[in-house]
Amino acid sequence: MSDVKRIDPRRPYRISPSGLRRIVLGEIAGGGLHVGAFARANEKARPRRTSEPAKTWHMAIAHSNRGKLDDHAREAIAAAAIIATPEVGVIAVILGELHEDIAPLGADRIIVIPELDAARFQPQREEAVVQSLLDKYQPAHVVMPDNMLGDGDLGRRLVAKHDDMKAATHVAELDRHHVAIYWSGSSVLAKTPLPRFVLLAPGTIDTDLPLVGAGERLPPPHFASITEVCRDLGLEQTETSGIALEEADFIVSAGSGVRNVDTIDMLARTLGAAVGASRVAVDEGKFPRDKQIGASGKTVNATTYFAIGISGAVQHLQGIKGCRHVIAINRDAGAPIVKRADLTVIGDAEELMQALITRVSQARNQGEVPEGER
Ligand SMILES: Cc1cc2nc3c(=O)[nH]c(=O)nc-3n(C[C@H](O)[C@H](O)[C@H](O)COP(=O)(O)OP(=O)(O)OC[C@H]3O[C@@H](n4cnc5c(N)ncnc54)[C@H](O)[C@@H]3O)c2cc1C
Repeated sequence: MSDVKRIDPRRPYRISPSGLRRIVLGEIAGGGLHVGAFARANEKARPRRTSEPAKTWHMAIAHSNRGKLDDHAREAIAAAAIIATPEVGVIAVILGELHEDIAPLGADRIIVIPELDAARFQPQREEAVVQSLLDKYQPAHVVMPDNMLGDGDLGRRLVAKHDDMKAATHVAELDRHHVAIYWSGSSVLAKTPLPRFVLLAPGTIDTDLPLVGAGERLPPPHFASITEVCRDLGLEQTETSGIALEEADFIVSAGSGVRNVDTIDMLARTLGAAVGASRVAVDEGKFPRDKQIGASGKTVNATTYFAIGISGAVQHLQGIKGCRHVIAINRDAGAPIVKRADLTVIGDAEELMQALITRVSQARNQGEVPEGER
């Protein structure tokens, strides 16, 4: 097992307004069932989804990653809210730490269990703890991300324990009445009534909900220690340079503003990121062609894209459309990448990369940043 996070390479489709149906709270875009009267997206102060006391529950369960939820986990919580009627409360059970507010995803109650971190392999413990919550709340529907980071496995374990628990996996479309999975593109492979347990495919739900949940944090459940049948041998570091860019969750990418390839390689190793490049940097012979990102190169979907000495030409930006956070280093504050980036440091690439390597290494040596973490 590796602690280098990868994107699920089997993600065969992405639901967009122009392609497959993308689910938003209140309706299914492209027609379909209306599940509520919520049409006020992007309002500043978003209203509570419901003020009614919960008669029953929906539960979303997902692992966090270093205190944050990835997009897929966020979708699972939003999905549980989307299919909830006003008298249904949404409980989000987060396995691992959580350092962000998830009420905007529709969570009314939040149970965080830091001990069940995804970095540790403890399937029986997870199963027992989550089962105790299922027993306590008896949720009408449970939604989990169908991933290979522990949630997909845990979901299947839970379902297998119950003969009477109907489940659907790889769900790419859902509403209050049905779920569907897709074969490819827009061909529906199977459609079935909404089962109790939904394992959700990634890229299915728009998490920008027009309303919020109550966001009340509940104490974690008490649980007795459980002896695992499996022994956790720990995580094994994988050489990040070997990861395909399409799968990489963190990419450090060089443009023609990067003079020293060794420095960017060192930075990528220090940060645990894969290395990409602009077309000009590739044309200059600094990187092989398979590292090129952009219109005539690879399209990447990393959570974090670190663009160093890259101007941000439209052809390059085309390849990073799906990246969640873009950080840039550029000496030109007017470069187009600055508009795309969430954070830009204006300065010399070589100098800043060296400073970053030194700072991260120092922080590691002083135990501020654990080995293997960014
Ligand atoms: C049909 C077509 C397809 C294309 N496909 C792609 C593609 O797939 N991918 C791609 O990337 N491009 C592609 N291009 C090329 C694209 O238009 C740009 O030319 C290219 O992306 C620019 O690369 P760059 O940003 O590395 O270089 P430049 O445009 O030269 O930009 C370098 C940047 O680095 C900054 N810089 C310079 N020195 C430093 C320093 N010391 N410290 C910090 N910053 C510094 C500069 O301010 C500048 O912003 C394509 C073009 C065409 C016409």
